[in-house]
Amino acid sequence: MKDSYTKRDALQALGAGAAFVAAGSLFGTLPAFAAEKSTTPTSKEDKTMTTITLPPLPYASNALEPHIGKQTVEIHHGKHQKAYVDKTNELIKGTDLEGKSLEEIIKASAKDSSKAVLFNNAAQAWNHIVYWDNMKANGGGKPSGDVLAKIEADFGSYDKFVEEFKANGLTQFGSGWVWLVLDNGKLKITKTANADNPVAHGQVAVLGVDVWEHAYYLDYQNRRVDYLSTFLDHLVNWDYAAKAIKG
Ligand code: MN
Repeated sequence: MKDSYTKRDALQALGAGAAFVAAGSLFGTLPAFAAEKSTTPTSKEDKTMTTITLPPLPYASNALEPHIGKQTVEIHHGKHQKAYVDKTNELIKGTDLEGKSLEEIIKASAKDSSKAVLFNNAAQAWNHIVYWDNMKANGGGKPSGDVLAKIEADFGSYDKFVEEFKANGLTQFGSGWVWLVLDNGKLKITKTANADNPVAHGQVAVLGVDVWEHAYYLDYQNRRVDYLSTFLDHLVNWDYAAKAIKG
């Protein structure tokens, strides 16, 4: 740790999460854990129903170290994201949204204030899929090829993109997300509060970074800007961005 604020302090600050962590070993292997909520029917009634599933991480839980620690990744994926998935399934059960995709559920609930809880959980379930998939070990740095050309065309330069991305991530007050989106064919940076996301605004998510404190507090404490810099310099999966831009 760079300062006297230890991981133990951070865990204590996180409250309920700390109690969970203190209880001992969190999980066996993540893929097995991820499979806990599967489409496997548990009763006759469930056989025709498709549930939303928690995808396994696209890499080992320690793959992003030293930038994002194994413990952060395991709690974030296995506890936070799993809770959003479970709550979404609970809320759609027996409704006309049961069996729909996450994107359909997000669009159907985005503008309906009576479905705010469903929107928050479905959007967060989706947002974290983007988040894990748009990172990789030994990622980051300036992209090349078509992605760089598109960034330069729409932002002027890669440095301008970096500046705007970090500024948006840093100024999102409280919990939320910073996104690189494709909006009517043009790359733009947006920030959203809480669960709000590009799907709700008819945009394509090219990159998405979680700026809720649970995403970075164990590794960066209050230093959100360091977390954002690290994402861009060491973690971005530009292949993911390239695919998203191509559609
Ligand atoms: Mn999160």
